[in-house]
Amino acid sequence: MDSIPPQLPVRSKVTVTAIPGDGIGPEVMRATQQVLAAADAQVEWEEALAGAEAFRRGIASGAPRETLDSIARTGVALKGPLETPVGHGEKSANVALRKTFEMYGNVRPVRELPGIRTPFSGRGIDFVVVRENVEDVYAGIEHMQTPGVAQCLKIITEVGCERILRLAAAVAEAEGRRKVTVATKANIMKLTEGMLKRVGEQVLAEYPSLSNEHMIVDNCAHQMVIRPEQFDVAVMTNMNGDILSDLAAGLVGGLGVAPSANLGDGVAMFEAVHGSAPQIAGKGIANPTALLLSALMMLRHVGDFATARRIEHALYVTLEEGRDLTGDIAREAEGVPTQQFVDRVIANL
Ligand code: NAD
Repeated sequence: MDSIPPQLPVRSKVTVTAIPGDGIGPEVMRATQQVLAAADAQVEWEEALAGAEAFRRGIASGAPRETLDSIARTGVALKGPLETPVGHGEKSANVALRKTFEMYGNVRPVRELPGIRTPFSGRGIDFVVVRENVEDVYAGIEHMQTPGVAQCLKIITEVGCERILRLAAAVAEAEGRRKVTVATKANIMKLTEGMLKRVGEQVLAEYPSLSNEHMIVDNCAHQMVIRPEQFDVAVMTNMNGDILSDLAAGLVGGLGVAPSANLGDGVAMFEAVHGSAPQIAGKGIANPTALLLSALMMLRHVGDFATARRIEHALYVTLEEGRDLTGDIAREAEGVPTQQFVDRVIANL
């Protein structure tokens, strides 16, 4: 009889909120969804709006109520980049989403990828930046004090420090890592940055399987460039983590290949580290690897390790083969269109 063998578990579909976003967002989202569909990932997408179009419709936060409702319902989102006017205009829709769902942890893995050659290749770079995601100068308290004098408040709380440090420790333990580096500017901002250092010493003492160290954040930037292989998990306040995780992405192939997860209690939102890349938007040449790797983090988050492994293998084979890569990582001068890269990944499934 042709029945399904009982040992094969029946995978139930998971509903995920998909926010295509701005600029190259819809292109890399489409590419990612194509690969997941070809690998038969059991995902049902609930598409939702956020970013530039929401601002155009007069939604001040950049994230409409229906989008927030969808994320609250599904608990899992895959998000494209959202454009934020630089230096003027609306607040960031990204910050609004992170704050609405108190997604306090931003986890950014930094790993050498097969076939991607950089000046750092072969060093064994494999670490995770854990960035605090809702406090610091991103709390949104910024104003003109007097004409010609602007002020932005840096908010750091003990609760915020403790939960990001525990997340860093949990990531280290879950991935069998040994060391947590707390990188701060505590030498100058003794109360705010100093709080992460001080709480770090207390909290990390509770994890005897992990060693921990403190590093001044500017030296951390220097160390990431001269000896990146020394890092395992590096935890930072919001702005330091924002900057150093982009630096770290540059060590392993750039923003086109850097994934991330925003984690809160009960909600997780996965997105590429990169922005909307307006210079290349609409040209069909963006690299979807960063969002695809973010989607693999998402599949593992919902427990579908087998599909994640299968897609990861196909992606790694594609990168290793070195043909059909997009311009940002192509070994020859010319890259191929996004769709040709996607077709190659699917052929390698
Ligand atoms: P960006 O990440 O969009 O682009 C920086 C550089 O990297 C550009 O040269 C771009 O062409 C390249 N790049 C980025 N992603 C790529 C990809 N997938 N494939 C190939 N090349 C890629 O940074 P930016 O120009 O500073 O920001 C543009 C907009 O994005 C701004 O409005 C900013 O606020 C927003 N932004 C959003 C997020 C987010 O939604 N999480 C993150 C960063 C920036």
